[in-house]
Amino acid sequence: ATPTALMVGTGRGAQLGILLKGPEVLESTRRVDTVALDKTGTVTTGEMAVRDVITADGVDADDLLARAAAVESGSEHPIGRAVCKHVAELGLDVPETADFRNLAGAGVTAFIDGLRVTVTGPRDVPVQLGERMREQIATASAEGATPVVVTYLDAVAGVIVVADTVKPTSAAAIAELKRMGLRPVLLTGDNDGAARHVAAQVGIDEVIADVTPDGKVDAVRRLQESGRVVAMVGDGVNDAAALASADLGLAMGTGTDVAIEAGDLTLVSGDLWAVVDAIALSRKTLSTIK
Ligand code: ADP
Ligand code: MG
Repeated sequence: ATPTALMVGTGRGAQLGILLKGPEVLESTRRVDTVALDKTGTVTTGEMAVRDVITADGVDADDLLARAAAVESGSEHPIGRAVCKHVAELGLDVPETADFRNLAGAGVTAFIDGLRVTVTGPRDVPVQLGERMREQIATASAEGATPVVVTYLDAVAGVIVVADTVKPTSAAAIAELKRMGLRPVLLTGDNDGAARHVAAQVGIDEVIADVTPDGKVDAVRRLQESGRVVAMVGDGVNDAAALASADLGLAMGTGTDVAIEAGDLTLVSGDLWAVVDAIALSRKTLSTIK
């Protein structure tokens, strides 16, 4: 490829809000045949909202929310932001925490008044879930929502259900990707119910759900081993490893710095039309070179 054409392509990309790490990125973009998309914050807005709170016997809902918000205040994840926003709107006092830890792709934990409080997805709950909580979790997941479990030391204190909405442009952009001959795959750490709910709304048939950040890397590798050239689109800390291991990593400009650093190109707008634009640009730039 001539350097001039690549420079022009790179400049045109910048005009379209597509920032390339280097001109050679256009080459890998053109070869892509599969687009793996993270769900939360990529296909969806990532502006999650608290929809329901279920408490264990003897636990006060406001107390549960305030403690969960205290622990989540250390998190950049959309779930954490949703819980903190909800608690702020309720005007609840948020307690102090100590020894905050981010459990990558699983949740968060910290001490409050000497008691370990953990907020995680159902997969990573550190203790046994009772029958009633399991049913509530199954119902929320089946409805396409995302339940997270709050535990106090070794007891389940309750479940907070959050939900997200699909970005208004996602369905049309994915339809266009399919028209261009690309196969979209939804790749998410969220539960299968929430994943399938979103996939159905945007026209994605292939769903890989309930995976850890390492599981996202494995999923990308398996797609590659089956002969596919994989672009990964993501926004979160939990997507960084998969963005780096994909043939092409596309980071949402609205996402975390870690994801942006791991990607080969950044989509400034955080809109999936930019994925279409990036692939169309690479095809156009490189076909004029051949
Ligand atoms: P996605 O692939 O949809 O962006 P993530 O990999 O970021 O999802 O998260 C996967 C799952 O891990 C979430 O659905 C949730 O169950 C759990 N999780 C991640 N971060 C948090 C958090 N801060 N609080 C509670 N649960 C979390
Ligand atoms: Mg995400």
